[in-house]
Amino acid sequence: FQQAIRAGDVQDAFCREIQVNGKDDRKHWIRQHMYFIQSSNRLVELSLNIDEQKSNEKRLEKAKQKAEEANEETRCFLNSISHEVRTPLNAIVGFSTILANSNETGEEYIPIILRNTRLLNALIKNILDLSALDAGKITFCYKQFNIEKVFIDMGSYIRNNLDEHSLKVVYEMPECEEERFITTDEEYLRKLLLNLLSNAVKFTNEGSVTFGCRRREYGLYFYVSDTGCGIAPEDQKSIFNRFVKLDAYVQGIGLGLALCKSIVKHLGGKIGVTSEKGKGSTFWFVLPNVQ
Ligand code: ADP
Repeated sequence: FQQAIRAGDVQDAFCREIQVNGKDDRKHWIRQHMYFIQSSNRLVELSLNIDEQKSNEKRLEKAKQKAEEANEETRCFLNSISHEVRTPLNAIVGFSTILANSNETGEEYIPIILRNTRLLNALIKNILDLSALDAGKITFCYKQFNIEKVFIDMGSYIRNNLDEHSLKVVYEMPECEEERFITTDEEYLRKLLLNLLSNAVKFTNEGSVTFGCRRREYGLYFYVSDTGCGIAPEDQKSIFNRFVKLDAYVQGIGLGLALCKSIVKHLGGKIGVTSEKGKGSTFWFVLPNVQ
Protein backbone atom coordinates (compact mmCIF):
# COMPACT_ATOMS: atom_id res chain seq x y z
CA PHE A 1 0.00 0.00 0.00
CA GLN A 2 2.86 2.34 0.75
CA GLN A 3 4.12 1.80 -2.78
CA ALA A 4 0.67 2.20 -4.28
CA ILE A 5 0.08 5.42 -2.36
CA ARG A 6 3.47 6.83 -3.35
CA ALA A 7 2.84 5.98 -6.98
CA GLY A 8 -0.46 7.84 -6.77
CA ASP A 9 -2.40 4.68 -7.62
CA VAL A 10 -4.47 5.00 -4.45
CA GLN A 11 -6.35 8.25 -4.26
CA ASP A 12 -8.47 7.68 -1.16
CA ALA A 13 -7.02 8.07 2.30
CA PHE A 14 -5.85 4.71 3.53
CA CYS A 15 -7.50 3.55 6.73
CA ARG A 16 -7.57 -0.10 7.73
CA GLU A 17 -8.04 -2.13 10.84
CA ILE A 18 -5.44 -4.84 10.83
CA GLN A 19 -4.20 -7.49 13.17
CA VAL A 20 -0.48 -7.64 13.80
CA ASN A 21 1.84 -9.92 15.76
CA GLY A 22 3.17 -7.94 18.70
CA LYS A 23 6.60 -8.20 20.24
CA ASP A 24 4.90 -9.76 23.24
CA ASP A 25 3.95 -12.74 21.02
CA ARG A 26 0.31 -11.71 21.11
CA LYS A 27 -1.91 -10.47 18.32
CA HIS A 28 -3.00 -6.85 18.48
CA TRP A 29 -5.55 -4.79 16.59
CA ILE A 30 -4.20 -1.65 14.95
CA ARG A 31 -6.08 1.07 13.09
CA GLN A 32 -3.64 2.33 10.51
CA HIS A 33 -3.92 5.55 8.54
CA MET A 34 -1.56 6.52 5.70
CA TYR A 35 -1.35 9.83 3.91
CA PHE A 36 0.99 10.87 1.16
CA ILE A 37 1.97 14.52 1.30
CA GLN A 38 2.95 15.29 -2.25
CA SER A 39 4.49 18.71 -1.63
CA SER A 40 7.11 17.22 0.65
CA ASN A 41 7.05 13.76 -0.91
CA ARG A 42 6.42 12.25 2.51
CA LEU A 43 4.33 9.33 3.60
CA VAL A 44 2.71 9.80 6.99
CA GLU A 45 1.53 6.77 8.90
CA LEU A 46 -0.57 6.81 12.04
CA SER A 47 -1.11 3.60 13.94
CA LEU A 48 -3.51 3.37 16.82
CA ASN A 49 -3.87 0.38 19.09
CA ILE A 50 -7.58 -0.49 19.15
CA ASP A 51 -7.45 -3.71 21.22
CA GLU A 52 -9.89 -2.28 23.76
CA GLN A 53 -12.35 -1.17 21.10
CA LYS A 54 -12.19 -4.61 19.49
CA SER A 55 -12.82 -6.42 22.75
CA ASN A 56 -15.75 -4.07 23.46
CA GLU A 57 -17.13 -4.84 20.00
CA LYS A 58 -16.80 -8.55 20.72
CA ARG A 59 -18.61 -8.13 24.04
CA LEU A 60 -21.36 -6.14 22.36
CA GLU A 61 -21.73 -8.78 19.66
CA LYS A 62 -22.04 -11.48 22.35
CA ALA A 63 -24.60 -9.42 24.28
CA LYS A 64 -26.58 -8.91 21.07
CA GLN A 65 -26.51 -12.61 20.34
CA LYS A 66 -27.67 -13.37 23.89
CA ALA A 67 -30.49 -10.83 23.59
CA GLU A 68 -31.56 -12.38 20.28
CA GLU A 69 -31.51 -15.85 21.82
CA ALA A 70 -33.59 -14.62 24.77
CA ASN A 71 -35.99 -13.05 22.32
CA GLU A 72 -36.31 -16.29 20.41
CA GLU A 73 -36.81 -18.18 23.66
CA THR A 74 -39.58 -15.80 24.69
CA ARG A 75 -41.24 -16.28 21.31
CA CYS A 76 -41.06 -20.09 21.64
CA PHE A 77 -42.30 -19.83 25.20
CA LEU A 78 -45.33 -17.74 24.30
CA ASN A 79 -46.09 -19.94 21.32
CA SER A 80 -46.06 -23.17 23.29
CA ILE A 81 -47.60 -21.85 26.43
CA SER A 82 -50.59 -20.24 24.80
CA HIS A 83 -51.66 -23.61 23.44
CA GLU A 84 -50.60 -25.79 26.36
CA VAL A 85 -52.25 -23.56 28.97
CA ARG A 86 -55.39 -22.88 27.01
CA THR A 87 -56.23 -26.55 26.40
CA PRO A 88 -56.39 -27.73 30.04
CA LEU A 89 -57.81 -24.38 31.16
CA ASN A 90 -60.66 -24.63 28.64
CA ALA A 91 -61.40 -28.16 29.85
CA ILE A 92 -61.45 -27.05 33.51
CA VAL A 93 -63.63 -24.01 32.83
CA GLY A 94 -65.91 -25.89 30.44
CA PHE A 95 -66.59 -28.94 32.58
CA SER A 96 -66.83 -26.95 35.84
CA THR A 97 -69.46 -24.73 34.20
CA ILE A 98 -71.44 -27.77 33.08
CA LEU A 99 -71.17 -29.19 36.61
CA ALA A 100 -72.30 -25.94 38.18
CA ASN A 101 -75.28 -25.55 35.85
CA SER A 102 -76.38 -29.15 35.73
CA ASN A 103 -79.01 -30.68 37.95
CA GLU A 104 -77.33 -34.07 37.71
CA THR A 105 -74.25 -35.09 39.67
CA GLY A 106 -71.95 -35.01 36.62
CA GLU A 107 -69.47 -37.36 38.31
CA GLU A 108 -67.95 -38.33 34.99
CA TYR A 109 -66.60 -34.79 34.57
CA ILE A 110 -64.68 -34.76 37.84
CA PRO A 111 -61.74 -36.96 36.68
CA ILE A 112 -61.40 -34.77 33.57
CA ILE A 113 -61.29 -31.61 35.66
CA LEU A 114 -58.79 -33.19 38.05
CA ARG A 115 -56.55 -34.47 35.25
CA ASN A 116 -56.43 -31.07 33.58
CA THR A 117 -55.83 -29.30 36.88
CA ARG A 118 -52.90 -31.64 37.49
CA LEU A 119 -51.48 -30.92 34.02
CA LEU A 120 -51.76 -27.19 34.47
CA ASN A 121 -50.28 -27.36 37.94
CA ALA A 122 -47.26 -29.39 36.75
CA LEU A 123 -46.71 -27.06 33.82
CA ILE A 124 -46.76 -23.90 35.93
CA LYS A 125 -44.53 -25.47 38.60
CA ASN A 126 -41.92 -26.37 35.97
CA ILE A 127 -41.95 -22.86 34.52
CA LEU A 128 -41.57 -21.25 37.95
CA ASP A 129 -38.82 -23.66 39.00
CA LEU A 130 -36.82 -23.12 35.85
CA SER A 131 -37.11 -19.37 36.07
CA ALA A 132 -36.08 -19.40 39.76
CA LEU A 133 -33.05 -21.58 38.92
CA ASP A 134 -32.11 -19.26 36.03
CA ALA A 135 -32.32 -16.26 38.36
CA GLY A 136 -30.15 -18.04 40.95
CA LYS A 137 -32.92 -17.68 43.51
CA ILE A 138 -32.86 -21.27 44.77
CA THR A 139 -31.02 -22.30 47.88
CA PHE A 140 -30.65 -26.04 48.02
CA CYS A 141 -31.26 -27.72 51.30
CA TYR A 142 -28.98 -30.71 51.79
CA LYS A 143 -29.89 -33.27 54.40
CA GLN A 144 -29.56 -36.98 54.90
CA PHE A 145 -32.68 -39.07 54.30
CA ASN A 146 -33.80 -42.56 53.33
CA ILE A 147 -34.77 -42.84 49.66
CA GLU A 148 -37.22 -45.65 50.44
CA LYS A 149 -39.91 -43.14 51.46
CA VAL A 150 -39.30 -41.07 48.32
CA PHE A 151 -39.61 -44.14 46.11
CA ILE A 152 -42.78 -45.35 47.83
CA ASP A 153 -44.39 -41.90 47.40
CA MET A 154 -43.29 -41.63 43.76
CA GLY A 155 -44.50 -45.14 42.97
CA SER A 156 -47.95 -44.59 44.40
CA TYR A 157 -48.29 -41.11 42.87
CA ILE A 158 -47.47 -42.46 39.43
CA ARG A 159 -49.70 -45.53 39.83
CA ASN A 160 -52.62 -43.30 40.91
CA ASN A 161 -52.14 -41.07 37.90
CA LEU A 162 -51.70 -43.61 35.15
CA ASP A 163 -54.95 -42.44 33.54
CA GLU A 164 -55.78 -44.82 30.72
CA HIS A 165 -52.37 -46.56 30.80
CA SER A 166 -52.13 -50.08 32.17
CA LEU A 167 -48.46 -50.13 33.01
CA LYS A 168 -46.49 -52.00 35.62
CA VAL A 169 -44.64 -49.50 37.81
CA VAL A 170 -41.73 -50.99 39.75
CA TYR A 171 -38.96 -49.52 41.86
CA GLU A 172 -35.62 -51.02 42.82
CA MET A 173 -33.54 -50.00 45.80
CA PRO A 174 -30.06 -50.89 46.99
CA GLU A 175 -30.22 -54.20 48.92
CA CYS A 176 -28.10 -52.88 51.71
CA GLU A 177 -30.13 -50.72 54.11
CA GLU A 178 -27.19 -48.39 54.70
CA GLU A 179 -26.93 -47.54 51.01
CA ARG A 180 -30.46 -46.20 51.00
CA PHE A 181 -29.41 -43.14 52.96
CA ILE A 182 -28.28 -40.24 50.86
CA THR A 183 -27.47 -36.61 51.41
CA THR A 184 -28.93 -34.27 48.84
CA ASP A 185 -31.89 -31.91 48.39
CA GLU A 186 -34.94 -34.12 48.80
CA GLU A 187 -37.43 -31.71 47.25
CA TYR A 188 -35.40 -31.39 44.06
CA LEU A 189 -34.70 -35.11 43.91
CA ARG A 190 -38.48 -35.59 43.95
CA LYS A 191 -38.91 -33.05 41.15
CA LEU A 192 -36.33 -34.89 39.04
CA LEU A 193 -37.93 -38.28 39.52
CA LEU A 194 -41.43 -36.90 39.02
CA ASN A 195 -40.54 -35.33 35.67
CA LEU A 196 -38.77 -38.43 34.39
CA LEU A 197 -41.52 -40.76 35.63
CA SER A 198 -44.28 -38.61 34.13
CA ASN A 199 -42.48 -38.73 30.79
CA ALA A 200 -41.96 -42.49 31.03
CA VAL A 201 -45.71 -42.96 31.55
CA LYS A 202 -46.60 -40.45 28.85
CA PHE A 203 -44.46 -42.17 26.21
CA THR A 204 -45.18 -45.81 27.11
CA ASN A 205 -48.36 -47.50 25.98
CA GLU A 206 -47.65 -50.96 27.31
CA GLY A 207 -45.09 -52.79 29.37
CA SER A 208 -43.44 -51.29 32.40
CA VAL A 209 -41.74 -48.35 34.01
CA THR A 210 -38.90 -49.20 36.39
CA PHE A 211 -37.04 -46.70 38.49
CA GLY A 212 -34.32 -47.08 41.03
CA CYS A 213 -31.04 -46.06 42.51
CA ARG A 214 -27.57 -47.59 42.82
CA ARG A 215 -24.57 -46.44 44.73
CA ARG A 216 -21.53 -45.69 42.62
CA GLU A 217 -18.05 -44.69 43.60
CA TYR A 218 -18.64 -41.08 42.56
CA GLY A 219 -22.17 -40.70 43.92
CA LEU A 220 -25.67 -41.98 43.46
CA TYR A 221 -26.95 -43.21 40.16
CA PHE A 222 -30.71 -42.86 39.61
CA TYR A 223 -32.56 -44.27 36.62
CA VAL A 224 -36.04 -44.35 35.10
CA SER A 225 -36.50 -47.02 32.42
CA ASP A 226 -39.51 -47.55 30.23
CA THR A 227 -40.60 -49.88 27.46
CA GLY A 228 -42.04 -47.02 25.45
CA CYS A 229 -41.52 -45.45 22.03
CA GLY A 230 -37.81 -44.75 22.50
CA ILE A 231 -35.80 -41.86 21.03
CA ALA A 232 -33.68 -41.83 17.87
CA PRO A 233 -29.92 -41.29 18.46
CA GLU A 234 -29.93 -37.92 16.66
CA ASP A 235 -32.62 -36.57 19.02
CA GLN A 236 -31.16 -37.77 22.29
CA LYS A 237 -29.13 -34.64 22.95
CA SER A 238 -31.59 -31.99 21.80
CA ILE A 239 -34.45 -33.18 24.03
CA PHE A 240 -32.66 -31.65 27.02
CA ASN A 241 -32.93 -28.22 25.37
CA ARG A 242 -35.84 -25.91 26.15
CA PHE A 243 -39.06 -26.22 24.18
CA VAL A 244 -37.98 -29.33 22.30
CA LYS A 245 -40.78 -31.80 21.65
CA LEU A 246 -40.33 -34.63 19.20
CA ASP A 247 -44.05 -35.04 18.71
CA ALA A 248 -45.99 -31.78 18.53
CA TYR A 249 -49.27 -33.56 19.30
CA VAL A 250 -48.17 -34.84 22.71
CA GLN A 251 -49.10 -32.67 25.67
CA GLY A 252 -46.29 -30.58 27.20
CA ILE A 253 -44.17 -27.57 26.36
CA GLY A 254 -40.82 -29.31 26.33
CA LEU A 255 -39.47 -27.85 29.56
CA GLY A 256 -39.41 -30.92 31.85
CA LEU A 257 -36.04 -32.27 30.73
CA ALA A 258 -34.52 -28.78 30.53
CA LEU A 259 -35.57 -28.30 34.15
CA CYS A 260 -34.04 -31.68 35.11
CA LYS A 261 -30.79 -30.73 33.37
CA SER A 262 -30.67 -27.44 35.23
CA ILE A 263 -31.42 -29.04 38.64
CA VAL A 264 -28.78 -31.74 38.14
CA LYS A 265 -26.22 -29.14 37.08
CA HIS A 266 -26.96 -27.05 40.20
CA LEU A 267 -26.61 -30.16 42.38
CA GLY A 268 -23.22 -30.89 40.79
CA GLY A 269 -24.29 -34.01 38.89
CA LYS A 270 -24.81 -35.34 35.38
CA ILE A 271 -27.87 -36.38 33.40
CA GLY A 272 -28.31 -38.44 30.22
CA VAL A 273 -30.34 -40.98 28.31
CA THR A 274 -29.78 -44.28 26.58
CA SER A 275 -32.55 -45.28 24.25
CA GLU A 276 -33.51 -47.37 21.28
CA LYS A 277 -36.29 -46.31 18.95
CA GLY A 278 -39.32 -48.54 19.41
CA LYS A 279 -37.84 -50.38 22.40
CA GLY A 280 -37.70 -47.91 25.26
CA SER A 281 -35.52 -45.44 27.12
CA THR A 282 -33.52 -45.16 30.29
CA PHE A 283 -33.12 -41.66 31.64
CA TRP A 284 -30.44 -41.46 34.32
CA PHE A 285 -28.79 -38.91 36.53
CA VAL A 286 -25.91 -39.07 38.96
CA LEU A 287 -25.82 -36.90 42.07
CA PRO A 288 -22.76 -36.51 44.24
CA ASN A 289 -23.42 -37.78 47.74
CA VAL A 290 -22.65 -34.65 49.72
CA GLN A 291 -21.01 -35.52 53.07
P1 ADP B 1 -42.45 -31.87 28.54
O1 ADP B 1 -42.13 -30.95 29.66
O2 ADP B 1 -43.32 -31.27 27.48
O3 ADP B 1 -42.90 -33.23 28.97
P2 ADP B 1 -39.72 -32.78 28.20
O4 ADP B 1 -38.66 -31.72 28.18
O5 ADP B 1 -39.90 -33.53 29.47
O6 ADP B 1 -41.08 -32.11 27.72
O7 ADP B 1 -39.42 -33.82 27.04
C1 ADP B 1 -39.09 -33.33 25.76
C2 ADP B 1 -39.34 -34.38 24.71
O8 ADP B 1 -38.46 -35.50 24.89
C3 ADP B 1 -40.73 -34.99 24.74
O9 ADP B 1 -41.69 -34.19 24.09
C4 ADP B 1 -40.48 -36.30 24.01
O10 ADP B 1 -40.46 -36.09 22.63
C5 ADP B 1 -39.07 -36.68 24.47
N1 ADP B 1 -39.12 -37.63 25.63
C6 ADP B 1 -38.96 -37.33 26.93
N2 ADP B 1 -39.03 -38.43 27.70
C7 ADP B 1 -39.25 -39.46 26.86
C8 ADP B 1 -39.43 -40.88 27.06
N3 ADP B 1 -39.39 -41.45 28.26
N4 ADP B 1 -39.64 -41.64 25.94
C9 ADP B 1 -39.67 -41.09 24.70
N5 ADP B 1 -39.53 -39.76 24.46
C10 ADP B 1 -39.31 -38.96 25.52
